[in-house]
Amino acid sequence: MRRLGPLASADVADSGSWIERDVACVWHGFTQMGAYADNRPVIVERAEGRELIDVDGNRYLDAISSLWVTTLGHRVPELDQAVRDQLDRVAHSTMLGNGNRVVIELAEALAPRVPVDGARFLFASDGAAAVEQALKIAFQFWTNQGVAGRTKYLAFGGAYHGDSIGSLSVGDGGFGTDVFDPLRFPVLRAPSLGEPGAVEAATDLIAAHASELAAVVLEPLVQGAAGMALVPPEAVAAVAEAAAARDVLVIHDEVATGFGRTGTLFATEQCGARPDLMVLGKGITGGYLPLSATVASERVWRAFLGPDLSERTFYHGHSYSGNALAAAVALRHLELFDEWHVLANVKARAEQLGHRLAGSVAPLARVGAIRRCGLMAGIELAPPTDGLRWGRRVSAACVERGVLIRPLGDVVVIMPPLTITGEEIDRIVDVIAEAIIEVTTTEVAAPTTAPSGQGEP
Ligand SMILES: *Cc1c(COP(=O)(O)O)cnc(C)c1O
Repeated sequence: MRRLGPLASADVADSGSWIERDVACVWHGFTQMGAYADNRPVIVERAEGRELIDVDGNRYLDAISSLWVTTLGHRVPELDQAVRDQLDRVAHSTMLGNGNRVVIELAEALAPRVPVDGARFLFASDGAAAVEQALKIAFQFWTNQGVAGRTKYLAFGGAYHGDSIGSLSVGDGGFGTDVFDPLRFPVLRAPSLGEPGAVEAATDLIAAHASELAAVVLEPLVQGAAGMALVPPEAVAAVAEAAAARDVLVIHDEVATGFGRTGTLFATEQCGARPDLMVLGKGITGGYLPLSATVASERVWRAFLGPDLSERTFYHGHSYSGNALAAAVALRHLELFDEWHVLANVKARAEQLGHRLAGSVAPLARVGAIRRCGLMAGIELAPPTDGLRWGRRVSAACVERGVLIRPLGDVVVIMPPLTITGEEIDRIVDVIAEAIIEVTTTEVAAPTTAPSGQGEP
């Protein structure tokens, strides 16, 4: 095995001791630390292209895009260079009351590409923070105009919008977050928009509660964390129409679907809608640096104009809002999308993935359903009893074969980088099919304590 890396310690330590060191001081999100080491985590040291390389030199095809953030691959020379070039200018300067050249350039480049009229960008670092900003902007949009009582939100079954208290409130729970229910503020909730009758339920709720609603918040085309629940474009358009008719703001959360995953730069484009607010995150920097944005329409933004220091100001902002390094890499990333014809590859590879899943995975016993939109796919396993942890076990069997997969409960998620090749798609599907056969035909073990369906995003 090839020796790797400049770290002297990498030569003496195997992954076992790295895992011990990890457990001794790092707390991993959405992870039971008591079981972490037993689940044989991959300790990444470096990467090449779409492969992650661990401290022992083992390679793993990153079939989940490092939890849905990586778009073009790891260590893209052009993106690396964009960070280096920006380092020679400035790493960060505050956006509160002052500006930064590369942030202006990024907003100018994004403005004509986002499906929001007269787009204004309020940057943050994580998706949840940008969702939180959208909720607060929608709320203050009404109070700024002297409209009282518009304090509620309409959200959907299966929704996931992040883990801060506000974003958790509009989300539908699950993933073990029910413990926080007492902290959530109440919202109106319609069924997931792919379910029969959901559009009628949503439009009825909008009609009945319009005078109390600040905004409707939805994930267009795909509810990723719900296990790739599909949202029909006509349903998104129908909700937009009903909301516009009653003057309720619409927020599109494109943190997961944005930046090409569904085959267009934004999923909203396929729905023919123009939301008042849109939330971007995850893929915005190609997976390089934490950056998110709340995009507001000019109409929304205008409602905040007023005298200096007046109460119409949006009194909200994060320390690292508009980080210059992140903005520089996001700007170069957007250019590369066009230069490399990334969306053409997404379309071709998505079609191939659909065919391969239909041919090699759908016919397998114990595969319940396959859902896919662009390069976002979920394979729902149908275990005979609860507690078998099939999602976890199939993913582990994939990792053993060098393909990094992480499930959502018993849904095996495939979300490869957008530059994935035809051979790599074949490899991912072949490995997943093998892993499903291995686990579902040989595992008759007694149920474990972990409840089935409790996934981790
Ligand atoms: C991941 C995600 C979020 C939260 O983003 P973070 O950067 O993890 O805070 C919000 N909405 C959707 C749809 C997501 O998939």
